[in-house]
Amino acid sequence: MSKMASVTAAKVSSERVRALYSAYVLGNYADAPFALVKGEGSTVWDAENRRYLDFTSGIAVNTLGHCHPRWVERLSTQLKRLGHVSNLFHTPQQAELAKALSERAGPGKLFFCNSGAEANEFLIKLGRLHGLRKCGEEGRCHRIITAKNAFHGRTFGGMAATPQSKIQQGFGPMLEGFRHAQFNDASSFAEQIDESVCAILVETIQGEGGIHPAEADFLRELRVLCDAHGLLLILDEVQCGIGRTGKFFAYEHAGIVPDAIGMAKGLGGGFPIGAAWVAEPHAGLFKPGSHGTTYGGNPLACAASLAVLEVMEEEGLLERVSAKGPDWIASLKELATKHPEHLSGARGMGYHSALVVRGDPAHWIERLRENGLLTVRAGQDAIRLMPALNVTDQELQTALEIIDFVFGTN
Ligand code: PLP
Repeated sequence: MSKMASVTAAKVSSERVRALYSAYVLGNYADAPFALVKGEGSTVWDAENRRYLDFTSGIAVNTLGHCHPRWVERLSTQLKRLGHVSNLFHTPQQAELAKALSERAGPGKLFFCNSGAEANEFLIKLGRLHGLRKCGEEGRCHRIITAKNAFHGRTFGGMAATPQSKIQQGFGPMLEGFRHAQFNDASSFAEQIDESVCAILVETIQGEGGIHPAEADFLRELRVLCDAHGLLLILDEVQCGIGRTGKFFAYEHAGIVPDAIGMAKGLGGGFPIGAAWVAEPHAGLFKPGSHGTTYGGNPLACAASLAVLEVMEEEGLLERVSAKGPDWIASLKELATKHPEHLSGARGMGYHSALVVRGDPAHWIERLRENGLLTVRAGQDAIRLMPALNVTDQELQTALEIIDFVFGTN
């Protein structure tokens, strides 16, 4: 047996995995409490065979829960047929996924990549190409306005678009060309506009910042501002998109149409993929050779995404989240009212939700985990609850009972 195989064959325990992480995996993530080895639907098991209700969904990724049979089947069929070819060639999977997403977003075209940050890098470049088209001179209309408390990823473009010292610290100087305004305050964005600006980029719901939805009026006012000043309205739906709020894209609740959309996470349902949709009038800004990525639109990633869209439709998941979401958020608010000493409220739309805690959420996330519910922190005061879109009523109820128990016994 090779050395590598013997490592794989060794008995898995959370302790052994932690030791290997500590020795060999770069320490840019906080230590994890255990190693997960199996998942089915909304349940995951750790190496010691303890089970948990997973309301992290891999940070808003596992749209269909874990190992949905159709997703597994589509992915394994594709794996046996054709795994990767690059964009030197066309594949039916990329073509079909582009069509499916365009049908949902509107007339326009798709660019595929591998992550949310990469989708945003592409969109920042789109903004700059638009600026060049508008002003006729490179570097004159290149500025993008983003919101305070935003999160757009960890690349240099993403970091510069993310005005948070905890994200930027240590990596300066930041990429030039970003201004920041108050989220949910269109007049603050208006104040930042001059002839050097080419675009506005905002999350439709600030996710990492603590699940703060953009108000419908705010989005409509941004649309008006962008039209009046010839700016692109770019929406980052990397976390809140793909059905999480009960509409395919969260901005649909506001009845507006953006110029471009970034997506990732839930699109692949657990297989890495990122994408950006660009409205038809701007889709020609990129010419052959102007941008690219080797894996973008890889047939495996696209097959996984097509399975996600297919199951969402067949199982009526948008309708389900629309129907159940308001009750779910209302139940969280009720629990906050019941435990006012620890909870100050609940926020969100559909299954993109958070409990707002008084003080540091870390202790509560640990207590919830000890009681079998996995959640994830957001911002200073929020515990994110992002179940799979096909979570059952019973699982939602169990989560509420665990939350009630944990906040009632501390
Ligand atoms: N944009 C938003 C709104 C996100 O929430 C995230 C990740 O959390 C990103 C961009 C970056 O995505 P990724 O981690 O896939 O690079």
